[in-house]
Amino acid sequence: MHETKAKGIPLHTKILLALILGAALGITANYAQRPAAFQPKLLALLSVQPCVGLPFSALATAYAPAPPTWIDHLITYVMHPVGQIFLRLLFLTVIPLVFASLSVGVAQLGAMGNLGRIGLKTFVYFVLTMTMAVVIGLAMVNTVRPGDAITEKTKDRLMKEYGAEAAKRTGQPVSFGVNTFVQIVPQNPLAAMVNMDMLAVIFVALLVGVALTKIEPERSQHTVRLLEGVNEVMIVIIGWAMKIAPFGVFALIFTVTARFGLELLAPLAMYVLIVLVGIAVQMFVVLSILVATLARMSPLVFFRKVRAIMITAFSTSSSNATLPTTIKVSEEELGVPPAIAGFVLPLGATMNMNGTALFEGVTVVFLAQVFGVDLSLGDQIIVVVMAVITAIGAAGVPGGSLPLLIMVLAMVGVPPTGIALILGVDRILDMCRTTLNVIGDVTAAAYVTRSEGYELLTTESATP
Ligand code: ASP
Repeated sequence: MHETKAKGIPLHTKILLALILGAALGITANYAQRPAAFQPKLLALLSVQPCVGLPFSALATAYAPAPPTWIDHLITYVMHPVGQIFLRLLFLTVIPLVFASLSVGVAQLGAMGNLGRIGLKTFVYFVLTMTMAVVIGLAMVNTVRPGDAITEKTKDRLMKEYGAEAAKRTGQPVSFGVNTFVQIVPQNPLAAMVNMDMLAVIFVALLVGVALTKIEPERSQHTVRLLEGVNEVMIVIIGWAMKIAPFGVFALIFTVTARFGLELLAPLAMYVLIVLVGIAVQMFVVLSILVATLARMSPLVFFRKVRAIMITAFSTSSSNATLPTTIKVSEEELGVPPAIAGFVLPLGATMNMNGTALFEGVTVVFLAQVFGVDLSLGDQIIVVVMAVITAIGAAGVPGGSLPLLIMVLAMVGVPPTGIALILGVDRILDMCRTTLNVIGDVTAAAYVTRSEGYELLTTESATP
């Protein structure tokens, strides 16, 4: 990012330093404040609530039984608010940005007559890569069988710790059926925007974009210009948000690591490891091969150029919050044409979730192993299909996939309250799966760019 080089240190290096420093200090704080009897309770809260809107009262209740330490105060009054302000700044640009960039993207591609082809390519790429991700996850979890190693004692402890939270979540069942599709068409586009109902917003943006291509250019150009203007304004605001990104990222990571129940990692280590290795394989092997072959770009250069996207996704755990950065970096660093970036990336942030699909597949099979539910090959195929469908439907916010995961568990006969077992480690998995989700979108944009005959910036020169 050109304008981001300040005082000699490029912005993405500052963000990376903030990430490392925040994690190191957070983990130190975590150790410093033990024993913290109520830590897991707070952790559950942090892991499952979308970061935006985490009420202070909820934090206060979670702390109530133990006298707060200075670290608690530091988190409540400094780290948490700073992290939230950064996240909110990103989120506030999401709806205008998705709407404007997608409708303009569609209008431009439509005018060039290649919307249908690009749309199909994009969708096929999304579905195939997500399917590959789930298959990798399932192959690993079925081979290693981490669920068999969970003792009754651990299971009971985790159920006791997170059971109430799990029951609350499973108490609001998510139904999946014909209505799910009907609701993609909103009655009221403004209500869809207000509620951040992304699939509905995308639907309206697609309609508006296609409609713009049906109007004579002299009359549609005012609307197109207005939408382009909205886009540009949002990009400027995102630029400001990214200036405070080092502070925001530091605060977010500190808050998570200082509150992370590190002791929870031990019994679930195998499960966590499978999700993480699966994510790494999908990202650094499968997607790298696709980048090298389909986008004809060195994966090393690719990953170096998208560092800022990876760090933002990792620290926000939200594809939506990362979208502004994804668009900006893809255009500036990779040279993705704005029409393609504006079309593929907002769609990807909502629909293309490689990491989420993999996580869901692994988690369903892991919990089936823990609860002694035998999943036949047929059941596993259902898991693959449902993991892909629910990853498409999951909201790009922290923990966005959990309600849908609960639904898949119920579908294949695994007790949905079993989600209690993984709630404590979900945040760390969320950070990693979101990173893969977003990188998957960028590879899609790079592939579409190449396949449409455009050049990509394949050398290092654009990076400051
Ligand atoms: N946090 C993920 C995302 O925004 C969604 C999820 O898997 O919970 O991409």
